[in-house]
Amino acid sequence: MEKVIIDADKCKGCALCIEACPKKCLILSDTFNKAGYRPAVFTQKDACISCGFCFQVCPDIAIEIYT
Ligand code: SF4
Ligand code: SF4
Repeated sequence: MEKVIIDADKCKGCALCIEACPKKCLILSDTFNKAGYRPAVFTQKDACISCGFCFQVCPDIAIEIYT
């Protein structure tokens, strides 16, 4: 299972999670969600340390963390 799951349709592409991630695990998608935003995407699965920073900064509760 993924450590970080992002609900693309809740995401508004603000990139706060991308800035908060110390391991550069997140990027913005090249595609758009239903609302017309480019959602964040979890990459770098091996680099993620499950710190939860991305979850904590997301204003739209679009991120779930599994440890
Ligand atoms: S849990 Fe931490 S390391 Fe993993 S994607 Fe989120 S901010 Fe990055
Ligand atoms: S902080 Fe939340 S709303 Fe902003 S880009 Fe990341 S997942 Fe999307």
